[in-house]
Amino acid sequence: MDNSSQEILVAREVSKRYDVESPWAVDKVTLSLGKGEVVSIVGPNGAGKSTLIQMMLGLLVPDSGEIHIFGTNVATHRRLVSHRINYASTDLSLPYSLTVRENLMAYGLIYNLTHIRRRIDSLLELMGLEKFASIQVGRLSTGQVARMGIAKALINDPDLLFLDEPTATLDPEVSAQLRQTLKGMVQERGMTLLYTSHNMREVERFSDRLYLMHRGRLVAEGTVPVLIKRFDTEDLEALFLRMVGQEGNLDG
Ligand code: ADP
Repeated sequence: MDNSSQEILVAREVSKRYDVESPWAVDKVTLSLGKGEVVSIVGPNGAGKSTLIQMMLGLLVPDSGEIHIFGTNVATHRRLVSHRINYASTDLSLPYSLTVRENLMAYGLIYNLTHIRRRIDSLLELMGLEKFASIQVGRLSTGQVARMGIAKALINDPDLLFLDEPTATLDPEVSAQLRQTLKGMVQERGMTLLYTSHNMREVERFSDRLYLMHRGRLVAEGTVPVLIKRFDTEDLEALFLRMVGQEGNLDG
């Protein structure tokens, strides 16, 4: 796919550390996402994936470098793009005393949506949550909360969606359904999706392209077959283990 004319997100030399004594959580990261791409960031815990995504969302400000989404600098003009992006993560905290429907309603109001009820009904159906609509979120299972988080992330029909480990707590069947649903959104309306996952088989099957991240740095980029060939490994898991074992130095 030629996405050169339709770059949705561009990050240039982005760095962030949480305090001056700490190592860089994100270290001179440069990357881009084209319209309709499904791209994953793969790296061990602490690699900097969540910090990078928080900066892409405009929730953390880079110490240096810039991130542009739809041509707008998110650190300075987040409001201009926030209605077109959304996010779900495993550590998303939802108001637990509200029901599933009330939660979605609250998010729908934040985005100033028209036809909120219709939108919520279709999201409940999409995520298999219809029968939980009147249940307080605090009474749901971990997997149901994750589905609720994804319904919330889709409420504004985003053009760019960030999912931080979306399938970590889902069973394989629900996970497969979710991938199919997301793929449909990507193909039908050109949604762009950036996600993180520790499930290498999922990354192999689902992403068009991936970035390998270690200790704040991007150490490789490409499609799964290209990376496997380039580094002469059996599969993505073997490449991941090599990256961790060799401290990010894949050529060593
Ligand atoms: P990942 O998402 O890949 O697990 P993170 O972005 O969460 O990585 O973390 C990158 C680095 O930044 C780690 O060393 C982590 O300890 C540190 N870090 C993350 N969040 C904070 C925070 N709120 N305060 C201080 N250090 C943090």
